[in-house]
Amino acid sequence: MQVLAQKQLIGFLEELAPTSLQEGYDNSGWIVKLNDDFSRALLSLDCTPEVVEEARQEGCDLIISHHPIVFKGLKRLTGQHYTEQAVIMAIQAGISLYAIHTNLDNVLYKGVNQSLAQRLGLERGHILRPMKGQLCKLSIFVPKENTTALEAALFAAGAGRIGNYADCSFLTQGLGSFKPIEGAEPRIGKLGTRSFVEENRVEVLVENWRVNAVLQSARLAHPYEEMAYDLLSLENEHQCIGSGWIGFLPKALPVQEFLDLLKKRLPATALKYTPPIKSSIEKVAICGGAGGFLLPDAIQAGADVLVTADFKYHEYFDAHGKIMVVDPGHYETEHHLPEHISALLKEKFPNFATLISQVNTNPVNYY
Ligand SMILES: [Zn+2]
Repeated sequence: MQVLAQKQLIGFLEELAPTSLQEGYDNSGWIVKLNDDFSRALLSLDCTPEVVEEARQEGCDLIISHHPIVFKGLKRLTGQHYTEQAVIMAIQAGISLYAIHTNLDNVLYKGVNQSLAQRLGLERGHILRPMKGQLCKLSIFVPKENTTALEAALFAAGAGRIGNYADCSFLTQGLGSFKPIEGAEPRIGKLGTRSFVEENRVEVLVENWRVNAVLQSARLAHPYEEMAYDLLSLENEHQCIGSGWIGFLPKALPVQEFLDLLKKRLPATALKYTPPIKSSIEKVAICGGAGGFLLPDAIQAGADVLVTADFKYHEYFDAHGKIMVVDPGHYETEHHLPEHISALLKEKFPNFATLISQVNTNPVNYY
């Protein structure tokens, strides 16, 4: 089987779900990093001591979990708490720990909610609460004849993507001027003489987490010693980044049938739900894990139902008369994730060994 450098393996996961997209309270990314190469990864929802033991028995050197085992920080490693036990056991067994949590929640493509939507057979969906502040506008001034090469470099580094469109840019023509002064080593023009060059202004959208790579790539393709550019943060929402998901069932289902579908497809043992507002369900908002904060967004978007977990008693009242809420349980809305991440890794690295944890980490029982 294939041994993967962490740059390949984690690079792939972080291209899918950049760690900068995690929520402020989260601790996604490396929790324990003991190696630079990995030969066998165990995928799990939680990283409990039982899961670490399973990884040890299976000869894994890496656990990729959705929930980070260390969430609020550790002050000691005495083995008193299950978090400490898991970390100690992992270090003793030479197993690295990596978490891909709210950053995977916050991406549309191949994220937590899209995979949940596919499991439920939902379609025609988009992000329920798109995130602001993740986009920049980059404008670069470049001589006319170098424009195509510059654009190619920008696109290759991931600039110019808008939804399902790639290589998007806007060009305006103009006249640039400059005078190299002492210390300059101009590739065009002479010291002390002002030059005028026919230039284009190339404008592209760049996601925040790509800015450094895009600028580096642009500099390599730009003919000037000093590349003139503007980088502006935008207030635009990013349509592919944010919380929750909203879409449709292929056809409206009577409420009872929709509840049956949830129980069967997730699967879930029991559903907690508020009174339906309609006799049938078609427009469905979902959020894997604790998504009660999306209730106003789901109501605003006109969803018939919000399916998410961890509602508190009084929060159910907020839905009254406006939307139906179904809470199948936190574990139940996310336990498909190890399989989902494993499938993505297998597609990218067919010869890399991934195992799916067989441990049921759900701390909640139903009777
Ligand atoms: Zn969760």
